[in-house]
Amino acid sequence: MASQTSRPALIPINVAIFVGLPLLALVLVPVWGIYYGYDGFQWLWALAFLYLNGLSITAGYHRLWAHKAYEARAPLRWFFAFWGAGALQNSILVWASDHRRHHRHVDDRDRDPYAATKGLWFSHMGWMLRHYETNTEDFSNVPDLQRDPIVVWQHENYIALTVFMNLGLPLLLGIWHGDIIGTLLIVGLLRLIINHHVTFFVNSLAHFWGSRPYTEANSARDNGFLAFLTYGEGYHNYHHIFQTDYRNGIRWYQWDPSKWLISLCSRLGLAHNLVRIPDFKIQRALLDTQFQRIRREVEERQSPDNLLGLLEREYQQFTESVNQWKALQAERYERQVAVLEGALSEQRQRLHAKWEQAAMHSKLRTLEYALKMQRKRLSLLIDQVRMQAQPV
Ligand SMILES: [Zn+2]
Ligand SMILES: [Zn+2]
Repeated sequence: MASQTSRPALIPINVAIFVGLPLLALVLVPVWGIYYGYDGFQWLWALAFLYLNGLSITAGYHRLWAHKAYEARAPLRWFFAFWGAGALQNSILVWASDHRRHHRHVDDRDRDPYAATKGLWFSHMGWMLRHYETNTEDFSNVPDLQRDPIVVWQHENYIALTVFMNLGLPLLLGIWHGDIIGTLLIVGLLRLIINHHVTFFVNSLAHFWGSRPYTEANSARDNGFLAFLTYGEGYHNYHHIFQTDYRNGIRWYQWDPSKWLISLCSRLGLAHNLVRIPDFKIQRALLDTQFQRIRREVEERQSPDNLLGLLEREYQQFTESVNQWKALQAERYERQVAVLEGALSEQRQRLHAKWEQAAMHSKLRTLEYALKMQRKRLSLLIDQVRMQAQPV
């Protein structure tokens, strides 16, 4: 009993939402289904609501507000504020403040509100059920959001808004359709529970299950299957190292409907200033992680000196590429400053801009290519390390 009494008190409303509602759904949804059944209209609307809520959390709450991965015009922000409230995951302000803390102190048991180091259950939903100290409201990390009138309005009217989106809208839909209870159960209740858990997977499973190609500094994982369930948020290892990128799945074929939505909105003029991390930085992170892995293997297997020498040469080359890239960025920055300060005449500015673009582009491509080749060589090298360590 001693361990129980030392745990913080339960939060009744959250227990009712996160434990009571799923239990209710578990009983009522199948019972109603057996006696009266559901039809295509109800399932389709449930799916539509699921995506509207889910994408408003991922593209809105998460990438727009928590990370400022792009900027959005007011109609899109209103849209996300309404449908995001329908996901019943608290207001934008609370959500984004918690999430920024999660990134800043990831895995820190005392500061990350949903630290994966405290276990799968805790990071999935345990963290919301009790008055943990890490949940203390502190908006000092979201002053920018407090200046957004839509965010403030949503925070102040959150309860009315979430009740309307979760009960009011499905009720209206049910009246229109002629089956109020069935529609409330599927579009209201079941859709809410599913969306809760798939979103929670990002905090739980995406910190336990998958690969870590970009960084091993934290527990976040890349997982294509989870990306499919979580509207694209499953590429969580990438996201934790490059949180300001509006994409989580950076390859065109990686399932990330949130990135596709943001990109569509930008084409429609509803979103702008989309942040994309330069390819070189992405390659650098991949390579850096690869070096760390090989170093570990080399040490564990006590590889021969010739392999160690090879590895050191590769690392030197890597450092050189990184330095060249940094120098290129500094050069570009200086040019921009010179143009801004009017140090160059208008004609020279135009000439410079053209020359600069072409020259920079080809230099960057060369450097990116060098890193890609190096990654291939390192893969071969690691095979060699493993082979040489095997007894003949
Ligand atoms: Zn995370
Ligand atoms: Zn994030």
